[in-house]
Amino acid sequence: MRLLLVEDNVPLADELVSALNRQGYAVDWLADGRDAIHQGASEPYDLIVLDLGLPGLPGLEVLQKWRADGLSTPVLILTARGSWAERIEGLKAGADDYLTKPFHPEELQLRIQALLRRARGLANQPKLEAAGLHLDEGRQCVSRDGDEIQLTAAEFRLLRYFMLHPEQILSKSHLAEHLYDGENERDSNVIEVHVNHLRRKLGRAVVQTRRGQGYRFGGSGG
Ligand code: CA
Repeated sequence: MRLLLVEDNVPLADELVSALNRQGYAVDWLADGRDAIHQGASEPYDLIVLDLGLPGLPGLEVLQKWRADGLSTPVLILTARGSWAERIEGLKAGADDYLTKPFHPEELQLRIQALLRRARGLANQPKLEAAGLHLDEGRQCVSRDGDEIQLTAAEFRLLRYFMLHPEQILSKSHLAEHLYDGENERDSNVIEVHVNHLRRKLGRAVVQTRRGQGYRFGGSGG
């Protein structure tokens, strides 16, 4: 999953980018509200974390503009401690959730996981389940019938994306856009390598190839 972080406090942003990378998210970081308006609407983010106090343009106006332009990406806002007015204005402007600074990194992690499941209509799953597999996002491993299967960081990223999009045909370029940040060179052949590794660990049928279209995870016969 690919996230946009808009935060002008550099030490905090650095900390969040590394924590989110460790959790298997590709993260693009911006510090300015004007830059965020454009990039949030032009890149295919799965979720946006938006600070409200920003240079360039306040986060609230950025969010209002995105929503007015029809952007439906889940947005989690970061608000100042004790500012209930900010939280209310943020929710009215179309935020999906908020966190008050300072916050514990694990709380951000859990809220992001929940928002991403909710956005995919999987709010009823406290843990991701699909095609007989159970994904532990905290420990980055998967289990089937109680047997735990270890994953590399790249395999975990890919499997999580598949499990959030079961039975959908996903092209290699689509997967690359959602698994790598804007700084990394996107080589869609790498996706093929990781798909083959997942098949070796989880069985060939778990990911089907649709010739000329891409991959399909789970579903009948899968
Ligand atoms: Ca700020």
